[in-house]
Amino acid sequence: MAPALTKQPPPPHFVLVPLAAHGHFIPMVHLARLLAARGVRVSLAATPLDVARLRGFADQAAHAELPLELVELPFSPADAGLAPDCQSADKLTEDSQLLPFLSSLRALRAPFEAYVRALGPRPSCIISDWCSPWTAGVARSLGIPRLFFHGPPCFYSLCELNATVHGLQEQIAAAGDHQETHVVPGMPVCVKVTKGTVPGFYNAPGFETLRDEAMEAMFTADGAVVNTFLDIEAQFVACYEAALGKPVWTLGPFFLHNREDKAMALCGISSTAAVDQRAITAWLDEQAPGSVVYVSFGSVVRKLPKELFDVGHGLEDSGKPFLWVVKESEAATPEVQEWLDALKARTAGRGLVVRGWAPQLAILSHGAVGGFVTHCGWNSLLEAISHGVPVVTWPHFADQFLNERLVVDVLGVGVPIGVTVPVRMLDDESMPVARVDVVRAVSALMDGSEEAMERRRKATEYGERARMAMAKGGSSDENMTRLAENFMHTGVKKD
Ligand code: UDP
Repeated sequence: MAPALTKQPPPPHFVLVPLAAHGHFIPMVHLARLLAARGVRVSLAATPLDVARLRGFADQAAHAELPLELVELPFSPADAGLAPDCQSADKLTEDSQLLPFLSSLRALRAPFEAYVRALGPRPSCIISDWCSPWTAGVARSLGIPRLFFHGPPCFYSLCELNATVHGLQEQIAAAGDHQETHVVPGMPVCVKVTKGTVPGFYNAPGFETLRDEAMEAMFTADGAVVNTFLDIEAQFVACYEAALGKPVWTLGPFFLHNREDKAMALCGISSTAAVDQRAITAWLDEQAPGSVVYVSFGSVVRKLPKELFDVGHGLEDSGKPFLWVVKESEAATPEVQEWLDALKARTAGRGLVVRGWAPQLAILSHGAVGGFVTHCGWNSLLEAISHGVPVVTWPHFADQFLNERLVVDVLGVGVPIGVTVPVRMLDDESMPVARVDVVRAVSALMDGSEEAMERRRKATEYGERARMAMAKGGSSDENMTRLAENFMHTGVKKD
């Protein structure tokens, strides 16, 4: 008798909904690629601007025959009084636009729900950004499991959750003293914060509704996905999982699937997205191994000229080779352009200023780079750690102050520049760092002292472990297998 034919179940279908901001969006794009490489069908839903930015990425995925599609969600920022192209956080021109922008994203719910309803079989799972709580109602009404993707490390997310549950934000808000330190309850290590550095993405006045919606969506989700790996924060992952009472899937570093930075070159901010990567590599090839300090403040921070000049002078005074990324929006005036040209002339051969969007993964993976002055966005820190590069920590806002604590106090791979008070995202007038601070911190990072060597040794070890976590049989790889299998059937339990 012929054996009975066994019917293969269809692959799971994940719908990913990133937040329209590079620091949130880029890891989700990597995650989409990772899932698709497992044979999971992936739909990535985004605003028209982000979909346009991802065309090249989607073409690459199609070329590699990956089951990955883009879904364009119609979106009109003009309804919130914003410019028509204001469809991603990098398009904001003033801080005051952040609240209307984030609030306006709720309008994506209707087209998103229409898209999901029109699908044949329901998707197996929605993974949406922590800051996109409007997805919760869609998932609930259609009975689809939902995981939230929170951008920061578990260390930060656990601080944030514990602070919220114990009312720390309210206690600190009531206290007058800005410098007074408060211990975050329920942490496995002692973590102290001040009024300015208390965790919470939406602590500013006016953001209360957004915060409540995000918290509610977090508590009603079926689990969390985090771009981290167990070797750097196992204790915080375990505590976060226990505190949330739901699975926390550590699947990172996501970007390690993409060693050549091809896809992210396509995620540029502007028309100069294609800063000539070959010219940067050629310049790095000329430098001694581990000698170059890379300097970048992420995708959104915009510094005023006087602060840029202090950074530049500090790098010049440090005497170290440097590769410094200055945004187009920062270098827009003749004053700054002339100043940068003069710096270039003074530091010829030793300094390179990249104007626009830099190929950060390619830079960090180059053997000439030996240190990174960073604003402590989690993507940047994880990218540094995973490439064995120690850091100077210069946090600006949001999760960055606690991310600094993780890399300095827990992991031992960072030198603080000494900032204790947050600044605004765009054009903050205060000058928390002077050129001498840049010189001091860069020297401490690169001077070859015993401490510097120890930081470098640890970073190298974490880099190796990051690769092991993502390699076949590593902790993140195994979690990815379990996640995909889990949604092959129903339910969201990890084991
Ligand atoms: N990035 C880049 N080139 C740039 C600036 C940023 O590739 O010129 C990438 C960087 O590699 C990281 C992301 O943008 O993946 C920034 O995220 P992060 O969490 O570090 O900071 P944010 O931009 O959210 O403040």
